Amino acid sequence: MIAAMPMDLILSGGTVVTQNDARDVLSADVLVQDGRITAVGTRKELEKLAGRGARQPRPRLVIDATDRLVIPGLIQSHIHLCQTLFRGLADDLALLDWLKQRIWPLEGAHTHRSLRASARLGIAELLRGGTTAIQDMGTVHHTDAVFEALEETGIRAVAGKAMMDRQEGAPKGLREHASDAQATEASLRESIRLCEAWNGAGSGRIRYGFAPRFALSCTTGLLRETAEEARHRDARIHTHASENKDEIAAVRAETGLPNIEYLHSVGLTGHDVGLAHCVHLSRAEEKLLAKTQTNVLHCPSSNLKLGSGIARIPELLALGVPVSIGADGAPCNNNLDAFLETRLAALLQKPRLGPMAMPANVAFDLVTRGGARALGLADQIGSIEVGKRADLVVVDVERSHTLPGGDVYSRLVYAARPTDVTDVVVDGHVVVRNGVLSNLDEDAVRAEAKSALKALLTRADLA
Ligand SMILES: [Zn+2]
Repeated sequence: MIAAMPMDLILSGGTVVTQNDARDVLSADVLVQDGRITAVGTRKELEKLAGRGARQPRPRLVIDATDRLVIPGLIQSHIHLCQTLFRGLADDLALLDWLKQRIWPLEGAHTHRSLRASARLGIAELLRGGTTAIQDMGTVHHTDAVFEALEETGIRAVAGKAMMDRQEGAPKGLREHASDAQATEASLRESIRLCEAWNGAGSGRIRYGFAPRFALSCTTGLLRETAEEARHRDARIHTHASENKDEIAAVRAETGLPNIEYLHSVGLTGHDVGLAHCVHLSRAEEKLLAKTQTNVLHCPSSNLKLGSGIARIPELLALGVPVSIGADGAPCNNNLDAFLETRLAALLQKPRLGPMAMPANVAFDLVTRGGARALGLADQIGSIEVGKRADLVVVDVERSHTLPGGDVYSRLVYAARPTDVTDVVVDGHVVVRNGVLSNLDEDAVRAEAKSALKALLTRADLA
């Protein structure tokens, strides 16, 4: 379990990539007290400040970051922890087949135990690779298991249960209610129960986000009511949109509207909404996203692997649309690697728009500041600044595959790997120390995942 109050902490001697408004890169120490960044400066400046502290200092841990980079914790705004168990089980299919033939039957076979194992495996990979905060889509049932894993592992998250009240064709385990007539109410009721149970858990580290899966799996009534309930509770809204051409054609056939315009008509646009993918947008829809300041959650690996297409991210950024990055789920990636997604976000645009498109520093903005904004936490995380929560990552870029030249953004975006992460701090708690997870036994997590998958496959009704 996470101790109630983190100890004072200094990350010492590193190069601090602040991601503040000026994008300062400083040779500095970072002081962390009570889970917050309380100073960024030279050792002398920090000692002076700490000496002035009114309260009794607690035992202090110093993380030596000499010759290393200290960066804001990486943020992935679109993740499916429930799918980590299915890595490698749904390769080489297009979106709607991928969903219906593989993912939904597998998700429908989850129990509390298998879902917790899936979430723990995903979080182990995320934390080890420097991801300190995620937005998670969840699945239909047993969502408490995801929240339990979020709470015990120490990662920061906005998470919710996937809402799918259009049940035709859904496997039994993904039906909101045995009766179709009661599915909408059941979906809302369970979402509200989870919100009341978990919003603010982990000393505020965990927030609830309402998660209607996508337009085609929800009734118009559910989408409208979800928008109302979420806003009433000041919660985020997280869904998928315009990932695939067949999907947008189906939405248009059913509603008469382009997908984003339809979502707008039911209240699902705005600064508190995150739309994963947004690959196929009309110019009018792009402008609508900019006008409403709706967050686009960009998933480059997933878009490539499912053959969905290339999102027009530089064009969206030029319009002022807020953009962030996510790995999506393990079965469509197949990693949850923030470094890989950021590198790909940069590279993906270059054949289309030329090598100047999406420079490394812009891509790094998406996985830090952009992610913080997508989670509604821009005032708390996404940069290393006094007063912000202490979500920090130490990266060793003095390695054969990262040396010798290049600025910090070049090294981080084009060369670094998750295995270069040495230490990770979330909310002032050290969750990875010298490459080892503090709150999870990785061998046990792997063993538990293998055994949970074996049992799940005997339950799953795969085509
Ligand atoms: Zn997704």
